[in-house]
Amino acid sequence: MSRLFIRGATLLDPLRALGQADIRIAEGRIVEVGPRLTPDGEEEIDGREHIAMPGLINAHTHSGQSLDRGTSLNLPLDLWMVWSIYGGVAQSPEDAYTTAASGALEMLRSGCTSVLDQVYIPAEDFAAHASAVMAAYEDLGIRAAVAPMVQDRDFLESLHLQETSSGEALVQITPNYEPKLLIECLRGFLDAWQSKSETLLPMLGPTAPQRCSDEFLVLVADLARERQVRVHTHLLETKTQRLVGGRRYGRSLVDHIEALGYLTSRTSFAHGVWLTPQEYRKVGASGATIVHNPVSNMRCGSGVMPLQYLLREQVPVALGSDGAASNDTQNMLEVLKAASLLHTLYGDFRDWPQPEDLWRACLLGGAAALGEPLGRIAVGSAADIVLLRSERFALSSRPHLVAALVNSEHGESVDTVVVGGRVVVRDAVSTRVDERALTAEAHGFMERSAAAFDSRRATYSRYEGQIARSIDEADIDAFEPVRWWRP
Ligand SMILES: [Zn+2]
Repeated sequence: MSRLFIRGATLLDPLRALGQADIRIAEGRIVEVGPRLTPDGEEEIDGREHIAMPGLINAHTHSGQSLDRGTSLNLPLDLWMVWSIYGGVAQSPEDAYTTAASGALEMLRSGCTSVLDQVYIPAEDFAAHASAVMAAYEDLGIRAAVAPMVQDRDFLESLHLQETSSGEALVQITPNYEPKLLIECLRGFLDAWQSKSETLLPMLGPTAPQRCSDEFLVLVADLARERQVRVHTHLLETKTQRLVGGRRYGRSLVDHIEALGYLTSRTSFAHGVWLTPQEYRKVGASGATIVHNPVSNMRCGSGVMPLQYLLREQVPVALGSDGAASNDTQNMLEVLKAASLLHTLYGDFRDWPQPEDLWRACLLGGAAALGEPLGRIAVGSAADIVLLRSERFALSSRPHLVAALVNSEHGESVDTVVVGGRVVVRDAVSTRVDERALTAEAHGFMERSAAAFDSRRATYSRYEGQIARSIDEADIDAFEPVRWWRP
């Protein structure tokens, strides 16, 4: 593993004052930070015209959607799922490689060095599909926590739909699987990838409690404990999920998954929009992280996660882009800006989070979600560093550099990206893959996807009426956005 020496960069770290310093890197870690260090035969990078910041962390996405952008209507999540997820083209392992690699390239070039990818992996071709995703991340050089997204129950069961408007049973939309079969797939995934790479981190990712049987959820929790791996799942993203959870379990969905062993510091939950104050505090006390996805929550009208309350109660919060089909980019700087703006729409202005709060949550909350020493430029941290060109006026405001970064920057200033001590982007170009060839593959996939648009529309219209009705049913007064969670 290469040894690097970054000279004289302006350090932008969440827990130290802005200032110039040298950074020494060995074995993938930062081993020394300070002024006027002496190089010791390392490869040198001149950072004197650069700002060095810890790489941003995207703690929730689905790489399979990376090339599915601009294709979805603005729809409530339950309908959006049918349109975007169940209506799209089936992917081969080669397609999974292309979509994961394309998303990773976009993230690296916009300053993000770690991703938690809850990627859909078909049970029928599990090992080949998962290996293709891991190969994409290894090739691009991004740090990736990969949680294969699996469920053993039909999506429609999570909606409590029984009949179409004509009285017929709806056609099943996703297969029901034998829980033990899926567990064998996951066990094989851990055997293949656990402790095999410095930058690839296998996790477990049951899609969402209400789309899984309790039997399967317990088996996943047991496997996570046995293998000491982390778990990532969706939690109460929409009002309908809160309603269905209460009906199905006879208690709140949070109480239910607590009983199944999911409230631990090894778990991260995507969204968490519709918890009660007591439930937020319970999740916070367990040490689990909630991953806030402001753009997709707006795109699907899911609601506003009460970030002001979570920050006040010190519930661990990370940030995610969510999949490109509900975002429609993978740019974490955009996510930071959206989050910074969204939470001025409610509450006392004294509680409004500032850009620095979101940036810190992205780095330190993201590190907690992945359970890795990330998000800092400090001795012992992983050497995941982004060098930004400081001459661009977007970043010229020294006293308010983080606010400028969050509000004015999109990634154009990203010059060099280091992940685990490897230079993976230099002069804003990947050092590891042929970007032109990857782009050509991506275009090929997008054309096939566009050609299947009529069948997507047909799938959607088959389910639209019934699901729309279930959304109407859930739209009760108790779920007035933002205000309902107030203690
Ligand atoms: Zn998601």
